[in-house]
Amino acid sequence: MAYRPVKALIHLNALQQNLRQVKTFAPDSKVLAIIKSNGYGHGIERVAGQLTQADGYGVACIDEAIVLRQKGFLHPIVLLEGLFSEAELSIAIQHRLEFAVHSFLQLEWLKNSAIKTPLNIWLKLDTGMHRLGFQVHEIQNVIAELKALPAPVNIHLMSHFASADESEAFTQKQLSIFNQVAGNLKCPRSIANSAGVQRYPESHLDWVRPGIMLYGACATSETVPGLKPVMTLMSQIISLKWIEAGETVGYGQTWQASRRSLIAVVAIGYGDGYPRHAPSGTPVLIHGERMPLVGRVSMDMITVDVTDLAEKVTIGDEAILWGQGLPVDVIADACGTIGYELLCGVTQRVPRVEER
Ligand SMILES: *Cc1c(COP(=O)(O)O)cnc(C)c1O
Repeated sequence: MAYRPVKALIHLNALQQNLRQVKTFAPDSKVLAIIKSNGYGHGIERVAGQLTQADGYGVACIDEAIVLRQKGFLHPIVLLEGLFSEAELSIAIQHRLEFAVHSFLQLEWLKNSAIKTPLNIWLKLDTGMHRLGFQVHEIQNVIAELKALPAPVNIHLMSHFASADESEAFTQKQLSIFNQVAGNLKCPRSIANSAGVQRYPESHLDWVRPGIMLYGACATSETVPGLKPVMTLMSQIISLKWIEAGETVGYGQTWQASRRSLIAVVAIGYGDGYPRHAPSGTPVLIHGERMPLVGRVSMDMITVDVTDLAEKVTIGDEAILWGQGLPVDVIADACGTIGYELLCGVTQRVPRVEER
């Protein structure tokens, strides 16, 4: 039982609707639903349970994959960064996991093992992001080494966009490098993240890998029709008080009232994952209206100027921090970050409450 009023409503139907939207964008591709980082903060099992129409799940580590297997999910599960240690290989095989291979060290681990179980490998090509993956000139050798393993190896070729939400020229360059390498290989190909799904149909190829759009947030600055926010983060007003013009609110006295003002305290703070760097003016939805946050965010509380709602606000009224009616991207913009960080950052103490 949670006695504090803060909660994250999770709109289960919105997950299914957003997956349908992915399929509308990319009707001819398989969908690897990306549910790493606890399903972008929404709860990995819960999210997987709503996305059973996806063709597979992408996670960041074996622990996330094992949770899914233990709950009975039989889908293909891909470890997007592959193995972190040699010891994980037998665990991955035991749980029938597919995994990225992005480095010569990971390749060595495969060569060291005598396993003969068929392996599904997502070979990572670096097409310009310069994070994970083999260089173009290395890839043929790596493939030869994979094919020489005692285990039969089924290879997918994968790469990742650096700027699909920002630079068209760079994205096209990455795609053309990818296509050149893939052209000779005849294996399933995958490069599109959410921004690729939304903006570059020619990048869809055999598998798309949407993450953020499944949660109804945007990878791009445009809002995408047909996507519904999955999380609504909300709490309640626990105090209301009038202050005089010239008085200040909160730690460091960073905000000063320019008029006699009604200040609401809402029970949510950075201890819940509401960003401490949210500046005065960041909107909070109360009675359907966007009211400005004022002063610094505390660990368990924020303060909001509700002078313009003075006629109707009372203690116990609901305040929405983001979600339905207030896109998380609006808050992210105000805070100089991205919706991904805010969604992943909702802390453990916030109960996730499921809604249809
Ligand atoms: C996280 C991730 C994605 C999903 O990216 P979004 O921008 O959330 O759609 C796709 N591919 C890989 C390899 C990832 O790590």
